Parts: sequence; C-alpha cells; structure tokens
Amino acid sequence: ADINGNTDAGGSDDEGWLQQGDRVDLAQQSLLNKLIRHSLVLNRNRVEVQQRDPNSPLYSVKSFEELRLKADLLNGVYQMGFNRPSGIQENALPLMLAHPPQNLIAQSQSGTGKTAAFCLAMLSNANPAHAWPQCLCIAPTYELALQIGQVVEQMGKFCSNVKLVYAVRGNRMEKGTKVEEQIVIGTPGTVYDWCTKRKAIDPKRISMFVLDEADVMIAMQGHRDQSIRIQRLLPKECQMLFFSATFEDSVWSFAEKIIPNPNIIRLKREEETLDNIRQFYMVCKDKEEKFAALCNLYGCLTIAQTIVFCKTRRMASWLAESMTKEGHQVGVLSGEMTVEQRAAVIERYRQGKEKVLVTTNVCSRGIDVEQVTLVVNFDLPVDLAGQADNDTYLHRIGRAGRFGKRGFAVNLVDSQRSMDIIEQIELHFNRKIKKLDMNDLEELD
Ligand code: ADP
Repeated sequence: ADINGNTDAGGSDDEGWLQQGDRVDLAQQSLLNKLIRHSLVLNRNRVEVQQRDPNSPLYSVKSFEELRLKADLLNGVYQMGFNRPSGIQENALPLMLAHPPQNLIAQSQSGTGKTAAFCLAMLSNANPAHAWPQCLCIAPTYELALQIGQVVEQMGKFCSNVKLVYAVRGNRMEKGTKVEEQIVIGTPGTVYDWCTKRKAIDPKRISMFVLDEADVMIAMQGHRDQSIRIQRLLPKECQMLFFSATFEDSVWSFAEKIIPNPNIIRLKREEETLDNIRQFYMVCKDKEEKFAALCNLYGCLTIAQTIVFCKTRRMASWLAESMTKEGHQVGVLSGEMTVEQRAAVIERYRQGKEKVLVTTNVCSRGIDVEQVTLVVNFDLPVDLAGQADNDTYLHRIGRAGRFGKRGFAVNLVDSQRSMDIIEQIELHFNRKIKKLDMNDLEELD
C-alpha cells in the first residue's frame, strides 16, 4: 500500500482491474506519464481563452523575459532548457502572474506544460522574507506531489531562500510546530489536517492555491470533498488555480465549487487518426499459430519497433516468455509491476534496447511512443459485452496527425467471432482492413 492507503491493483487480473473502476489506475497512469515524459507534447490546436472580464485586454507572452520574473527564477527556467513558453503557458502565465490576482481553470492534456506553469507561478509568488506558507498545492497522491516538488526544486534552484515542504502522510509534524516553508505541496487529507487539527499552516495567509489533476482527484474517494473543505479555509482574495487533463462535466461541477470567477484556458487534444496507418489481419488457428505469425512478422521488420497487445496479463507473459525463448529481445508491461518498473521498461523500449513491447491494454493506456511502426493486436480489443471496442482500437493504432509517419497494424484473428469484430471495426472507421498471408509479408515493406 502506498502512503495514501492505495494498494497496487497488480494482484488482480487485468480485466478485473478494469471493471473495478479506475481510481488507483488514474493516479498511477498520471504518474507513469510524468515518469516517461521528457519534453512537451506537440499540439497544433488553438488555445481557447475565456476571460472572466471580456473587456480586459488579452495578454499573451512569447518569451519568458516578458514576464519580468525575478532574475534567479528566470535563470532556473532557462537552466531547465525551456527557451520559450509552451502553447498554454503563453496565455496562462500572464494570467497567473497578474495583479490583482486572477483565478484560472486550465485544461489540457498531460505534457503540455501545466505543471511547469504553476510551479513558476508559485516560485514567483512566494516571498522568502516571510517564514510561513504562502503557496499551497494539492495533488492526488504522494508520488504525484513529489513530482511537482521536484519541478519546484529544479526551477527554484537559484531561489535559495524559497523553501518547500511536503504535506503528506508519513511526514510527521510535531504538535505545536509551525510550517515555515513558503511552498507546501501535499495530498488533501494531510493538508487539511495541517491546516486544522495540527494548526501547522495558517490557511488565512495562503495567497495562492493550486489544485492539480482535478480529474484524478475527483475519481479518488474523499479527495474531492477534502479539497472543497480546504478551499473553504482560504481567504477570499486567495488566488485559485485549477488544472485538469480532461474535460468531463464532473470536472466542471467540481471546478465551480472551488473557483469563483475563473478565467478559462483550454487546449483540445489532437485527434488520433488512422490516416497514415495500413491495417491488416491474419487468420490463425490458435495462440501458437498467432505466436508463429508474430515471429514471422517480426523477422520481416527488423527496423521497426513493435507493440503487441494482449487481452490478459497471463497471455502477455506467456507471449513474452515464448518470444524470449526464441531469442527475441522483448520488454513486457505487466499488471503486478510498480509504476517505476513500468516506466523503466518503456524507457528501455524508447531507447531501442528492446524492439518489442508486449502489454495489456490496461498497462499501456496513455503511452505514446512515437517511433512505434508496427502495432499487433494479438487479441482484438473488445468491450465487456464482447463487441468491438473502437475507441481502444483507435487509441492503440491511431496516431495524432503530427507524427505523420506511416505505420502498420496487424490484427491476429483466431475465430469467427474475432473476424466479426474486424468487420465491425472496418465499418466503424470506414477503412479497409486487408487480409495478409504469411507468404506475402513483403507487402509490408
Ligand atoms: P503537464 O503538467 O501539462 O503534464 P509539464 O509541465 O509536466 O506538463 O511539462 C511536460 C514536459 O515538458 C516536462 O518534461 C517539462 O519539463 C517540459 N516543459 C514544460 N514547459 C516547457 C517549456 N516552456 N519549454 C520546454 N519544455 C517544457
């Protein structure tokens, strides 16, 4: 169990995990994304800005200099290798640093620069002359809080007088101790405890409140209500900043409870398409024949990097083992692995140390490895009713338009039922999935 009492769902089977709801899964997914992300996600969509006061001028910056940051902070930003603000940062940063303070809701997919933006805002807002908490940031789990803290540490490297503390379970706070650090990052329960029972933080002196990963937060029992309770302790003039990677209605109703008079910044995710993808299916008798087909395919495409999707964890480990026995270098993502272990496997795959990644859907959600050229559905994606799961299919095979690279998808079919699913998928996307024979694999090159 982690520090928040969440147990790793690895003990159950993958399908079971899916059905149980995605409470732990979402937070883990988000952490995994952070661990494997090295740079900004490209997104060519237009940033939508909805200002609270439509008559006030719309500020956007093309450089960090324009923000007039403290020299030490600007230095830290450049040290991180940031040359210019990301798409959402162009609009979000001027709002977040504005006087008088502005409230903000920002929604954009992970990897678009939200965390960097609010870390910068907190570092800019914190006054080192005051030895009490001024910026309060809450995140869904201990691990996610730590990730944010690392960005603050890195970016604030030269702001030596600004200090940071983690309000997370396990970080003991003696009765009567007052927090002197300017920036507090924590999970809702502990933060609330420190503000109320322990009186270690005076919430009335908080001038910036950041709620990160709102979508994950509301999926976790208790976090939503606890966050609202924390917000109620804060002074009216406290600046509220609210971030989410998704756009569901539930996020909105939550945001409305937390953020009065918000400015809103949104960046829609780039759509995935099947445009550049050549899709095939191969008919096999059973899993052994599927395995043979896969090995043949793989033999044909030595340069390519491949992801193979299996339905269950058991199938994934069987396949990985079988391929390894044949002498292939295979990475496998499996349900019982920790997020850190998964991140390490993905990293090795990224670097090309392993050219094949075998995984279940649950394990691989949210991963986009750009150089994947072949996706193999060892098992076709189906929903709980056994029908084609088109969304998952698109997500496995599709690429955001930006990659522009061609790719191949091969579906292994082992029954009339799976043939039906192929037809459903063809119909849904209105795209032909061609039959591929073992003998004409050259078609692929
Ligand atoms: P999000 O919070 O939306 O997931 P992050 O702030 O974590 O996004 O940013 C994603 C990645 O991009 C991180 O590796 C981060 O260091 C990097 N990054 C953020 N802002 C910039 C920028 N302006 N220029 C270059 N890289 C950036």
